[in-house]
Amino acid sequence: MAHDPLEWVHEEWTRWQAQGLTRECLTREGPQSGFSIQIAGRQLLNFGSNDYLGLAADERLIAAARDSLDRAGFGAGASPLVTGRGSLHAELEEALAAFEGCERTLLFPTGFAANAGTIPELVSRGDIVFSDAKNHASIVDGCRLSGAKVVVYRHVDMQHLADQLQEHRPVPGRKLIVTDGLFSMDGDLAPLPTIVELAEQAGAMVLVDEAHATGVFGEQGRGICEHFGVEERVTLRVGTLSKALGSAGGFVAGPAKLVEWLRNRARTYAFSTAMPEVLSAAVLAALEVVRTEPQRRVSLLQSAATLRSNLQRWGLDVGSSQSQIVPVLLGEASRTMEVAGQLREAGYFVPGIRPPSVPPGESLLRISLTVDHSPTDLESLATMLSNLLLPG
Ligand code: PMP
Repeated sequence: MAHDPLEWVHEEWTRWQAQGLTRECLTREGPQSGFSIQIAGRQLLNFGSNDYLGLAADERLIAAARDSLDRAGFGAGASPLVTGRGSLHAELEEALAAFEGCERTLLFPTGFAANAGTIPELVSRGDIVFSDAKNHASIVDGCRLSGAKVVVYRHVDMQHLADQLQEHRPVPGRKLIVTDGLFSMDGDLAPLPTIVELAEQAGAMVLVDEAHATGVFGEQGRGICEHFGVEERVTLRVGTLSKALGSAGGFVAGPAKLVEWLRNRARTYAFSTAMPEVLSAAVLAALEVVRTEPQRRVSLLQSAATLRSNLQRWGLDVGSSQSQIVPVLLGEASRTMEVAGQLREAGYFVPGIRPPSVPPGESLLRISLTVDHSPTDLESLATMLSNLLLPG
């Protein structure tokens, strides 16, 4: 009999299972609304969503999306460079530029596509990209796709970044420093004031991914660059519409010439169908909420600070979280998944995060908060965690 060309997948599966890394994709029943999620007939308190402002099922976004269906239909038909962007796409690009206080923005089908498509147009073979060790997978892939030399510096280690920039000083070609603004698993912030300083000394561009911070951080809700007052010193910001803005899609924000260059060049823009316009309509409504209801982000960050101090009081390790993403660091993958299972049994949905999402030995429970969690929800989660994790 001929060799089975899928033999490899059986072998890979066996290895994957032996490491305890198989993943289950759950099916939700109904929308996940901010703080609650229904799975297998049970309503659980939801601590797994990036719907930080509770907008994903907000009636204002739903109404805006519904209205737009009659005007714009659903599918975008083709890439924007083929059938054109829709008028709601254009309106959203302008609204995002006004919100971000930049010259131009460009919509991508997802945040992943924004990173993966943008980085290869900033640097290529012969250039160097300096990337934080804990950057999101879409940044990692964008760096790989670029063909540039990738120098990974230790997570938020500014001395290591400075040393690497110094070591590569004589190398000709473009230089780019790329970082998450708010890290998606640890909930800590990139030290952007130092990063822009080092970039200016080295003549490097800076790209900041604001995926988890848009709508949450900064006086106006623009993210970590605004929080640190460095927006003018950052070359380009990437954002996503899929987290605090409650929808789906991604964008880049920056100077007009550079953004138009990306419109011409970025492969995930030019060779991918635009997101449906109905999503743009929902985001336009979400931006209005971010503008007019700043108390949402203030209250979210206050809740996060309270939860962190409660967990720390119980002696639990929340790492260096400074945000609405609060990890409980457990280390071992099987223990982490066991505790996540026990939490689910008890009515709390808290994802366990293990390799390859985090390095081996650094598994964690990732608690993400929304503005709709009540003080009682947070108190009961902290108590449940302490019961499960602390001896006696
Ligand atoms: N950047 C970061 C830091 C992320 O965490 C994510 C998604 N988890 C993305 C980009 C990709 O965004 P999207 O889900 O819109 O593709």
